[in-house]
Amino acid sequence: MIELEHVTRRYGAAVAVADLSLAVGAGEFCVLIGGSGAGKSTTLKMINRLVDASEGAIRVGGRDIRELEPAALRRRMGYVIQSIGLFPHWTVARNVGTVPELLGWPAATIRDRTAALLARLGLAPGEFLAKYPHQLSIGQQQRVGIARALAADPDILLMDEPFGALDPITRMALQAEIAAIQQESGKTVVFVTHDIDEALRLASRIAVMERGRLVQIGTPMELLTAPASEFVRDLVGGDDLGIKLLGVATVASRLRAGETAPGVPIAAAASLRQALSRMAAEGRDRLAVVASDGRPAGTIHLADLLRR
Ligand code: ADP
Ligand code: MG
Repeated sequence: MIELEHVTRRYGAAVAVADLSLAVGAGEFCVLIGGSGAGKSTTLKMINRLVDASEGAIRVGGRDIRELEPAALRRRMGYVIQSIGLFPHWTVARNVGTVPELLGWPAATIRDRTAALLARLGLAPGEFLAKYPHQLSIGQQQRVGIARALAADPDILLMDEPFGALDPITRMALQAEIAAIQQESGKTVVFVTHDIDEALRLASRIAVMERGRLVQIGTPMELLTAPASEFVRDLVGGDDLGIKLLGVATVASRLRAGETAPGVPIAAAASLRQALSRMAAEGRDRLAVVASDGRPAGTIHLADLLRR
């Protein structure tokens, strides 16, 4: 879906992105992570041609993006940034409807789409459509920012530290929303963060960048269990490696089907980290497990958490 081949971006003598090759498949949730100045934002901006590569090629859906009109390319990609960037003098409705309007959608279609997206993002349309950005909390503004990015139903969503300005609780809520939206829509997401827990929670694959270079790409589990360098080891795990490993595997993966246990059950989709936390808090060595439909699924045992 998105392919970068030996892409370099220079600013004068400085190299922001160096010889980067990366392929993001359709429906993938790819997270770019790295420290400040690693080249993450530049990479994202090259994909939507806010910035042009100095060398190398970028293809989207098999087509070299230099052959495409930048405005047309950008309309196919939702773009969400940390500072949100809503138009302050426009209502929520007009902000969300910007791209569909540019595309000439009928007004009634835009209205319906806008209302549905706001509702999907937890903002009651009746309450929020006519509001202005300054009347919303930062978290609500970023929900509108995401709705705007999704408005014209792009295949690709580019997100540059979208939750960086949010408090931890709002941030977790929006992480869960974007994960659910991505799963139900099958959109291809390229998401930039410098927060490893956010990356581990969201990514199907994580690309680690250091000073403009790609130093490793892999699934969260691959990065945790086989870091390519000391830098990646420190980034992903450090002293919390074991806890982080428990965070990327689900209760379902260690389920003992058919057994029962007393107490409040845990969801099969919960992480092993959550299971461990419950066991520690409740002084139990096993928990009952329920499937997503609420039916009993079995149990999980403390000893099973240690299995690799
Ligand atoms: P990140 O998003 O990972 O923090 P960026 O992609 O923003 O990193 O920047 C990578 C490097 O490129 C940094 O050293 C930055 O200073 C430099 N850079 C980015 N944009 C510009 C620009 N417009 N002009 C000059 N240097 C830039
Ligand atoms: Mg950046």
